[in-house]
Amino acid sequence: MLNATQVGNVTEIKMGRSLDGVTALYWVAAYIIGGILIDTGCDYTKNELAEFLKDKKPSVIVNTHYHEDHVGGNAPLVDRLGVRTLAHPETICLMAERYEMHPYRVEVWGYPTPCTADPIGTAVKDGAVSLRVVETPGHCRGPHLPFRGDARDSVLRRHLGWRTPQDS
Ligand SMILES: [Zn+2]
Repeated sequence: MLNATQVGNVTEIKMGRSLDGVTALYWVAAYIIGGILIDTGCDYTKNELAEFLKDKKPSVIVNTHYHEDHVGGNAPLVDRLGVRTLAHPETICLMAERYEMHPYRVEVWGYPTPCTADPIGTAVKDGAVSLRVVETPGHCRGPHLPFRGDARDSVLRRHLGWRTPQDS
């Protein structure tokens, strides 16, 4: 199931596998700001996400890291919508592998289709939107990428560690 909320110029897209059509086992989120899609949720919701985004036509996917609840929706967006994907070079290697997952992770999120991406630079831009890439180790193998921007948006601030210059 998929539930989208607009906050300012950011759309928060919550997704989760549902066994009863009413409740999600565990929500994960992707965000779209301008034409930049940050993460793609899990394998179980990949077709819902592609359907939701077919008219929004993001110009680029940015994967923050390789975990199954962040890259699971890449394949149909790339194959059907032709969206370019960016990630950290270490993450690109990890995204291309099929890795071992605990059974609960398979049940909740499913195996992501191995995928590829182009190396991300120090910033991602789309029109007036510019996000600066910040590497933060510790969450997973390879780096995790939150962003810094100038906008004051509570959704990105809460979920991605996006900070304004005033927060520094
Ligand atoms: Zn993760």
